[in-house]
Amino acid sequence: MHSSPLNSQNLVIVISGPSGGGKSTVAQVLCENDDTLRLSISATTRKARPDEIDGENYHFLTKFEFEENIKNNYFIEWAKYREHYYGTPKSEIDVSRKEGKDTVLEIDVNGALQIKKQHLTPANSILIFLIPSTYDILEKRLRGRNTESEDELKNRLEIAKTELQLIAQYDYCVVNPEDDVEQAVYQIRNIISAERLRINPEQTTTFLQNFGLPI
Ligand code: ADP
Ligand code: 5GP
Repeated sequence: MHSSPLNSQNLVIVISGPSGGGKSTVAQVLCENDDTLRLSISATTRKARPDEIDGENYHFLTKFEFEENIKNNYFIEWAKYREHYYGTPKSEIDVSRKEGKDTVLEIDVNGALQIKKQHLTPANSILIFLIPSTYDILEKRLRGRNTESEDELKNRLEIAKTELQLIAQYDYCVVNPEDDVEQAVYQIRNIISAERLRINPEQTTTFLQNFGLPI
């Protein structure tokens, strides 16, 4: 579909960064109306928000279920954020691969760094750090979402300070500008387009053979 003879197959596109920066919003817009991308559905032990649907926003699990899944090696990555577990089932990547799509993960920084450490043959991962332009805007967005108690909101903002310090470990940084989600989505689309053309050395043998050249 979008492959060139030498490019990386089945990208895992990680959108990460502090809570409230706009990851879910941007990932949603990025994946809707794009049949080359598939948005992964994570599992979590946190309670569903009033507008969230089990199996659509998350797979909501009990702590026991989640811990059993950890034991059974069910996750490609998992992390604790505040007092809850969050994780990406390995099957999410497998389904995308079968459908010939790239996978978009919307996950926290600990999960993103776990993905980076893995060799996801034949997939290749890209880490994108999504941030608002200032810390004040981050706070404004989190407050505006109105999904956390004051204590939880303050805790998320504190965690954000640690998360922001990990930016150097990412491949790309995209600013999600105020009231312009499309701009962030546009930039992420450009990153994906370039990454799809990145040369994958493991495929050079086939490429040379196809051109009748010595290996
Ligand atoms: P995250 O998934 O990173 O926690 P959300 O996608 O839930 O963040 O966004 C946090 C809040 O900010 C939501 O209320 C969302 O509607 C809003 N938001 C997201 N992107 C923007 C933007 N570019 N401008 C203004 N508000 C935004
Ligand atoms: P929230 O409670 O706001 O939905 O998510 C809290 C944090 O967990 C966010 O930073 C979100 O990106 C992250 N998160 C969501 N799903 C996953 C996942 O599968 N793995 C990891 N490591 N983090 C996740």
